[in-house]
Amino acid sequence: MMPSKPVPPDFISRISQQLGSKTQAFLEALNHPPSPAIRYNPAKAKVPFVGQPIPWEPLGRLLPDRPVYALDPMFHAGAYYVQEPSSMILGFLIPQLLSSFPEAPLWLDLCAAPGGKSTHLLSFLPDDGLLVSNETDPHRASILHENLFRWGNPRFLFTREGAHKWNQIQECFDLILLDAPCSGEGMFRKDDFAITQWTPDLVQQCANRQTDLLANILPTLKPGGFLIYSTCTFAPEENINQLLPCLESGDLQAVTLTNPPTDWGWERIHPSISAWQTWFHTGIGEGLFCAVFQKPGKLEELNLPPLKIFKKNKPFTTIPHLPELMPHLSWAETPETIRLVPNLAKSFQPYLEKYHIRSTAGIPAGKIQQNRWTPSQELAWWPDLPLEGFKTLEVSRPQALDYLRRDTVHWHQSGNRGMHLITYQNLALGWMHLLEGRSNNLYPIPYRLRMR
Ligand code: SAM
Repeated sequence: MMPSKPVPPDFISRISQQLGSKTQAFLEALNHPPSPAIRYNPAKAKVPFVGQPIPWEPLGRLLPDRPVYALDPMFHAGAYYVQEPSSMILGFLIPQLLSSFPEAPLWLDLCAAPGGKSTHLLSFLPDDGLLVSNETDPHRASILHENLFRWGNPRFLFTREGAHKWNQIQECFDLILLDAPCSGEGMFRKDDFAITQWTPDLVQQCANRQTDLLANILPTLKPGGFLIYSTCTFAPEENINQLLPCLESGDLQAVTLTNPPTDWGWERIHPSISAWQTWFHTGIGEGLFCAVFQKPGKLEELNLPPLKIFKKNKPFTTIPHLPELMPHLSWAETPETIRLVPNLAKSFQPYLEKYHIRSTAGIPAGKIQQNRWTPSQELAWWPDLPLEGFKTLEVSRPQALDYLRRDTVHWHQSGNRGMHLITYQNLALGWMHLLEGRSNNLYPIPYRLRMR
């Protein structure tokens, strides 16, 4: 896709003040198509990677053409996330911060939908850690939740609170990502709506909102904790000018990080601050600003109440095939449901409840009805589910697409009966109940593939 709408003259005059003699190159590059790219899921990396490596993210790949992702079963299995290359910068920044965190770090992605950066953060989160993935917009929040389930890493809490609510909690997170809502200038090549909605007033409104978000969220960062601030826009008032006052006030300090590769278009925009911008005319991705700061102080583990001991309503041994878990995860059972939850969530959720912050931990694992366990779709997306514990049916691409559309899946083996995990290239797509001569496709309606 390329912009079919002309960019507003006010935007051109502002960007020429920023870029001077490079403005023409920028405007020409505005007409180049964006590079299609994906980021593979390290927990589901069973397939050979395709595409050209992206220098700042080892699992990122540039694709030669934009495929129809919806018609690729691997996309539905959560094998990769579709993400434009500049937004994969966390793959370069997070590894530089990891050694600073305590053993069980708490990370917050404040503006998380649709989930590009949350899924990326989860791929780096230490085993004992927890990511709070937050989004206020209800529709976008449900897309985020689905994308987190598909990614399959259960070490998250899903929340839907505004920054003013988070503001009550002081010094709680080791890392906060504020990928702020912005005027979207860096999306002009991908999204005509970004062009049509753009006005100088919009830039100012976004800047005001970002100032509020920052003021509300900074108290929530622990001393010594890191803030990653990003936007997909070029306007300085939404970017570096938001952050300079926090440095001047001493709320934040600069950190020294290695520069992302400048020959791939990452321009360092301040000599003493780790802050960068990508542009259409110099990079392979879209326009992104990002910066990393630290709150003065020393990072220490949060003093959470001791783990609540859950009374087991049902001895877990009655449910077949679920594996022994790594020490940082647990099965949380109620009389009717089971969830797979990170242990840290069990002590963090009551802490959040004190501030009236509601959260959902991890992934549903199934329902128990009349002493029978029915596994959930989300459990099928969990990459550690041991396939050998279940009956599986490996399907071809056309069969996989029939399955994902909830159509009848035609298969040839006879004698297969009972609950089966449908796999495509050894990655689980979901459940199907096979009966004599017919099947019951259990792929959930809300997740189904609508494209023919
Ligand atoms: N980080 C996301 C990703 O990588 O997929 C993209 C986030 S997008 C730039 C900004 C998001 O912030 C939008 O989904 C918007 O609905 C959300 N948002 C707007 N105001 C918010 C607020 N006060 N608190 C939390 N999220 C907010």
